Amino acid sequence: MTKTYKIAVLKGDGIGPEVTEATVKVLQAIQVKSDFKLNFLYGEAGYHCIAQYGTNLPKETLELIKQTSACLKGPMTTPEEPGAPVSVAVTLRKIFNLYANVRPCRSFPSVEALKPNIDLVVVRENTEGLYSGAESLLAPGVGIALRIITKEASLKIAEFAFKLASQRRKHLTYVHKGNILRITDGIFKDAVKEVSQKYPDVTVDDLHIDAATMQLIKKPEAYDVIVTTNLFGDILSDEAAQVTGSLGLAAGANIGETYGMFEPVHGSAPKYTGQNRVNPIATIMAGSMMLDYLGEKEAAAKIENAVINVLNEGKVRTADLGGSATTSEMANAIAAQVNP
Ligand code: NAD
Repeated sequence: MTKTYKIAVLKGDGIGPEVTEATVKVLQAIQVKSDFKLNFLYGEAGYHCIAQYGTNLPKETLELIKQTSACLKGPMTTPEEPGAPVSVAVTLRKIFNLYANVRPCRSFPSVEALKPNIDLVVVRENTEGLYSGAESLLAPGVGIALRIITKEASLKIAEFAFKLASQRRKHLTYVHKGNILRITDGIFKDAVKEVSQKYPDVTVDDLHIDAATMQLIKKPEAYDVIVTTNLFGDILSDEAAQVTGSLGLAAGANIGETYGMFEPVHGSAPKYTGQNRVNPIATIMAGSMMLDYLGEKEAAAKIENAVINVLNEGKVRTADLGGSATTSEMANAIAAQVNP
């Protein structure tokens, strides 16, 4: 019997609808020769919902997501005013306990990267740290933010990262600022060391966050799996994405025990809204990661190979890659190659 996966699709704001539609096109193409079907359920979420619903994640959308196996999420504009709804990604990570944020960064053929042989994954703890959103004003002009680090969450993310490293090049680097944040990063460091005992074949080293930002530019090819706390991981993965050529290529997965949410690393790039100009590859690669998460590894690999082929051929290139192809031309070129 043909398997059917229900997929929640949140198109998001700004360039979100364009890159999400491009990805759905590629996912529809992959189904043609696969033994599974994807049933896309569209939900409204994002900044554009606030005026109408008073929230960026309406109740109906949350109910829709709960019926699905995974979520493909377009980028969304985050309100920045104090008291405004927090980011949809942060809310979904909390509700579904999507504790692992996985952001692969690799050099693609024919894309100018800082080094040609980068292939690393940043694994970021996704539920606590400075993203706990626990901020308050102590007095006028004096604010505090809580950086919550627990042993439980640190052990979980360390386990996830070691498992991944053991399936890759067996090298794990943990990144922290333990010389200054002795208590919180002390807990994180101890958790990594504890889990490392179970993975004797994985080589482990560590870096302070400031050194890590420098090393990613100097020697990005030297890293395999990097595991770190929430904010450090956010910054490092954007940096790693740029080092590999363009933010338009970087995808991210948010994975928990029972649910996965997949999105591009980039944001809603409002200035390019509706121009059919941005690169959809980051979201298309998020779609590939989603299939991999669902266990459809062959289909996931086919999408990745199609992306690599299109980049290799060099005929279809969006502006961020020095070309003039549109978002839909890039999507069509990839969709045409997924079933070679
Ligand atoms: P951004 O990632 O939206 O854009 C920064 C720049 O990166 C763009 O101006 C563009 O030059 C380039 N870029 C981004 N995506 C691209 C693509 N697909 N192809 C080619 N070039 C691309 O970052 P920002 O301007 O800081 O943020 C805009 C909004 O997005 C903010 O409200 C921010 O909070 C939000 N945001 C959302 C998410 C998310 O939904 N997960 C992630 C990051 C930022």
